[in-house]
Amino acid sequence: MGFGFLIDPINRSWRKNLLEAYFPYVIQEAVMNIHLRIRAGEDIQFWNGDKYGRFSIKSAYTLITNIDADSDFNGASSWKISYWQSIPIRAWKRIWSSSTAPKIMGFHWRACVHGLASGEDLIHRKIPIDPNCGICGEEKESIKHILFFCPIARVSWFRSNLSYRL
Ligand SMILES: [Zn+2]
Repeated sequence: MGFGFLIDPINRSWRKNLLEAYFPYVIQEAVMNIHLRIRAGEDIQFWNGDKYGRFSIKSAYTLITNIDADSDFNGASSWKISYWQSIPIRAWKRIWSSSTAPKIMGFHWRACVHGLASGEDLIHRKIPIDPNCGICGEEKESIKHILFFCPIARVSWFRSNLSYRL
């Protein structure tokens, strides 16, 4: 998966709005601290979270879990970091060891770290929208509501091969 879309090719700078949309605060800061060369074509991308310099969501997770919880976690994203830390390590291990497509693992990870554009998360990012569910309109559109408790989600789980009744 390429991450060149995170770089503005004209200004040769990181697209901060995209970093804010997709990554937790500590990752945003780490990426923003990567110096980009002025002339295009000379860059090599090297991610410090991996010995080969290749970025992956798993290496980003490893980087974050190795950061001291008392360090720089403050500001607008602190609620997200504390939520992140409340998720047991075994849950992360299940995500990364599951035998599914990396895209699915990435979606699962983003759902767990509030990295999806739900109404609730957009409100936390100070985006003035209606936070209620766009499908049922009955509750605030949280990740849990979208994936489990919206009436449409409940029907989907029940009608799946798993026959879950939520
Ligand atoms: Zn709903």
